[in-house]
Amino acid sequence: MQKQLIVTCKELIDKLEKENKLSYEEYLYLIKNRDKCANYLYDKASKMREKIYGNKIYIRGLIEFSNYCKNDCLYCGIRRSNNRAERYRLTKEEILECAEEGYKLRLSYICYAKWRRYVFYRRNTNNYNKRNKIKIS
Ligand code: SF4
Repeated sequence: MQKQLIVTCKELIDKLEKENKLSYEEYLYLIKNRDKCANYLYDKASKMREKIYGNKIYIRGLIEFSNYCKNDCLYCGIRRSNNRAERYRLTKEEILECAEEGYKLRLSYICYAKWRRYVFYRRNTNNYNKRNKIKIS
């Protein structure tokens, strides 16, 4: 029985690696049984990290240009129902100022975040151009 469970966890992790998604029930199964195949998952994650990043360290800058959110995740301090959160929204000029600072600090990535939408700009590619890549509507 125990062996069968581990095989199932591994199969799900392999499926996730191959297809980049699982069903709700499959995720639930993995979460409920995470202790039983955690080492396999860590090993897979480590190999994936090594494949993408090697042993280099990248430092990412995150510009949260607004803390207004339409969602209501219970764990989050800026969820919409928290009426004690002090709200802000940066202007385009303020965002560009933050990006300039990140560029000077030689950050590998600059990421603009609002709600669940993230936009990444990678510094260490041949076509990195801070002025062309920063487009804010
Ligand atoms: S979507 Fe993100 S910012 Fe919005 S409430 Fe959930 S965790 Fe917080």
